Amino acid sequence: MASPVSRVLSSSQVATLAEVGEERTAEAGETLYEIGDETYPFIAIIEGEAAVLDSAGQEVVRHGASGFLGEMNLLSGQTVFLTAVATKPMRYIAVDREVLRRLLFEDGSLSDLLLSAFIERRELLQQRQGVGIEILGPRDSAETRRLVEFARRMRLPHSWVNPAESEEAAPAGWLAPTDLPLVKLPGGVELQRPSNGELSRALGIGLELATREEVDLLILGGGPAGLGAAVYGASEGLDTLVVESTVLGGQAGTSRRIENYLGFPAGISGTELTSRAVTQARKFGARTATPYRAQTLEPGAGRHIVRLEEGNEVVARAVLLSTGAEYRRLPVADLDRYEGISVFYAAGPPEGQLCAGKRVGVIGGGNSAAQAAVWLARGGALVTLLHRRASLEETMSHYLIPELDRYGVAVRDCSEVAELHGDEGHLDAVTLTDDTRLSLSYLFLFLGATPCTDWLGDTVARDSNGFVLTGPDAGADGLLETSVPGVYAAGDVRAGSIKRCATAVGEGAAIVRFVHERLSPPAPSPRQASEPERSATVDRPPA
Ligand SMILES: Cc1cc2nc3c(=O)[nH]c(=O)nc-3n(C[C@H](O)[C@H](O)[C@H](O)COP(=O)(O)OP(=O)(O)OC[C@H]3O[C@@H](n4cnc5c(N)ncnc54)[C@H](O)[C@@H]3O)c2cc1C
Repeated sequence: MASPVSRVLSSSQVATLAEVGEERTAEAGETLYEIGDETYPFIAIIEGEAAVLDSAGQEVVRHGASGFLGEMNLLSGQTVFLTAVATKPMRYIAVDREVLRRLLFEDGSLSDLLLSAFIERRELLQQRQGVGIEILGPRDSAETRRLVEFARRMRLPHSWVNPAESEEAAPAGWLAPTDLPLVKLPGGVELQRPSNGELSRALGIGLELATREEVDLLILGGGPAGLGAAVYGASEGLDTLVVESTVLGGQAGTSRRIENYLGFPAGISGTELTSRAVTQARKFGARTATPYRAQTLEPGAGRHIVRLEEGNEVVARAVLLSTGAEYRRLPVADLDRYEGISVFYAAGPPEGQLCAGKRVGVIGGGNSAAQAAVWLARGGALVTLLHRRASLEETMSHYLIPELDRYGVAVRDCSEVAELHGDEGHLDAVTLTDDTRLSLSYLFLFLGATPCTDWLGDTVARDSNGFVLTGPDAGADGLLETSVPGVYAAGDVRAGSIKRCATAVGEGAAIVRFVHERLSPPAPSPRQASEPERSATVDRPPA
């Protein structure tokens, strides 16, 4: 591993851990936990030393006195990806993960130290081959790419093996194409063609919902808006459930560095910001369920029913639509053959490593394109940013434009990609609409987003682009209420919202007050009581 993350605990932090944990000893050579174990305790070393090993027995890192063993899976509940062995006689404190979780809520400085170490360790593991899950499947299989994309978004350390290129991974004749994709879990369990949900459960991630759930507040979408609502909803006494179709954190979770979020003058990575938010929401008792996708909304008088793609049904007194938006794709032929192999929608550590020393195109004129271009260029890629307008000033925050120059990103104005060229998903070049051919090995697309609202049909009023209308535009009383009483919208999914983290969080938090007002309303006046119910069809005032 490039730079092992070996931070140390202060003596007072060791003392705090000793109060809630159990002191144990281990002989040199003794295994503390092993790849595939379903749980392991957090380990704070008082004396001695331990080595952390990958599946091939290669040493990843060594920790000594005051060091600690543990990674993101202590909080997410995933099975263990690494083995830990005492290399010198040890005296250590073992803290059960649930006890640790409670302690993190109470002890701010310990929480800061451990959370940032866990996140850094996970990022480093993602860059290391042979750690985590192995996905075996052909490069041209959409099902395989779905699993790879899911692992990437879940930030699971993973490797993708094409059986056609690896005799060792798949001895000839051993696997039929119908067996693929095959996922090998740490510890040896194999899953054939699992759904994202089956893979999550097998790794011990996330809550499994009952066939029918009843809650006060159902939040659909676990991005900043949904997490904002979860923290405020649960902390203010609402029985709150967040249902997320992919990975908690939403678009913000994919951002390399968010520099404009209040309270973080040096910026904060999207992963860290959203991991902290999830921990905070759970601290107040909000439940989070992933991956579950909302499929239909059936409004009712006082109770709404949301049916999930996985067959579950959730009955809620109030519903928040915070399903955000999804990246736009490039309108070119055969794009899907390149997606996940040489065309990406986010630039994280694995992509940064893949692109070092390569010619890379970043397409888009917004802030997310600029951040990705700078990140890839800092990792050693030769980056060209292509966008279709005459000047970046029209679409990009001003502070980012000099950054492109500073890190040597070439900018091509008025450029649109018309064709991709390559073989088996490996990009060689692109042709632009003006017939210029550019040699590029990787392409990153940041083309804006469309709202995730198709599933709503005409249940709630939406604008011509599909964004959900709220407040007066929807004929509703509350600012963030939709055309259906008791159903709210916040964040990027809402028509007219400012597409930023802080505003999404603020809107999510704000709906909690409206929900409270609806669930325990003051006695209605005779006039209010006789007002008709609103419907999904909105009567717009004349222009
Ligand atoms: C790469 C990148 C960098 C960015 N950088 C910044 C920045 O520096 N500063 C800033 O302020 N903003 C930034 N943004 C914008 C910011 O991230 C968004 O404005 C913010 O995430 C919107 O939050 P949201 O909760 O409304 O929606 P989202 O973040 O889009 O979250 C919506 C969630 O709903 C889930 N979902 C969708 N459909 C369903 C369904 N049917 N059922 C259940 N769940 C569903 C999605 O999987 C998703 O997780 C960036 C965006 C990107 C993509």
